[in-house]
Amino acid sequence: MNKAYKFRLYPNKKQIELIEKSFGCSRFIYNHFLNQKNEVYKDEKRCVKYTEQQNLLPSMKKEFVWLKEIDSTSLQMTLRNLDNAFKNFFHGRADRPKFKSKRDNYKAYTSNFVNNNIDIKKDKIKLPKLKWVKTKIHRYVEGRIINATVSKTPSGKYFVSICVETEIELLEKVTQNIGIDLGLCHFAILSNGEKIENLKYLKKSLNKLAKEQRKLSSKQKGSNNWNKQRVKVARLHERVANQRLDFIHKLSKRIAYENQVIVLEDLAVKNMMKNDKLAQSISDVSWYKFVTMLEYKAKWCGRKIHKIDRWYPSSKICNNCGYVLEEMPLHIREWECPKCNTIHDRDINASMNILKQGLLEIA
Ligand SMILES: [Zn+2]
Repeated sequence: MNKAYKFRLYPNKKQIELIEKSFGCSRFIYNHFLNQKNEVYKDEKRCVKYTEQQNLLPSMKKEFVWLKEIDSTSLQMTLRNLDNAFKNFFHGRADRPKFKSKRDNYKAYTSNFVNNNIDIKKDKIKLPKLKWVKTKIHRYVEGRIINATVSKTPSGKYFVSICVETEIELLEKVTQNIGIDLGLCHFAILSNGEKIENLKYLKKSLNKLAKEQRKLSSKQKGSNNWNKQRVKVARLHERVANQRLDFIHKLSKRIAYENQVIVLEDLAVKNMMKNDKLAQSISDVSWYKFVTMLEYKAKWCGRKIHKIDRWYPSSKICNNCGYVLEEMPLHIREWECPKCNTIHDRDINASMNILKQGLLEIA
């Protein structure tokens, strides 16, 4: 199983130069071979294979000698990425690959691990051609290194993502199972009665973000002030994203560790993400990321995740006697079952039903 560790890089001047060059070369190679793929497809109606293009790399390096200055495995990885982008396009999974522009906000290149060209020590990482780059290691990297992706954010920070192959860490079985309901007022509601608060700081940060974004749009595009403001907005975006990511990392880990079977609703996240409201769309994305993380963390720990149909009426059923209400308006937070007189918290009852239904389906 593959796992990725992301660390902030603090390259020196020379290393920055080389990283920027690598971005440039990677873009050059990508565009050059994308053009080739397009042309051949136009003329011969066939897709140029990865190996065909890889075989052209040595002659490219002779023609454009500056390509030799950067890590050669990164050029191969660029071709791989291009090939995958094309395959995804052909299978209808993605749009046609576009040419990369110098002005793209996100820049990255990937180096493959060969002959110990990538290594990690306390507070530094060895990367091909760059040698040791200063970093902050906040997590212990376990497993066999496969590759490293160096990237730069729109605000100008450098990061490395180390991809490793690990064994599955099977935890001891636990007896607790859990149902999770996506809340309206809360981030999530668990069948054990726990309500997980939404990110409170988010609203404040979002207001600030909206304000700075308005300022940005009032400035002349491409001007100095516009550029300064653009970096400011990008930094704020990053901060919000990091806070959110940290929150869902911790929550998904805890839930995966504490429970053997985890049941949730299968939500149509794609439609959810089309929501126009910024705050809502961010919480939707958080939920989507949370589910993704929970899925792989559960897999690492040997836990089971089960998704139930999203049309299952989890809010309308009494979890005590099974009575089904005809209606359940959104504003009702608490209700009494007309049959068994149990008083329910709307969301906790729903999450208990989700768990019940999930366990039933598994059995
Ligand atoms: Zn009842």
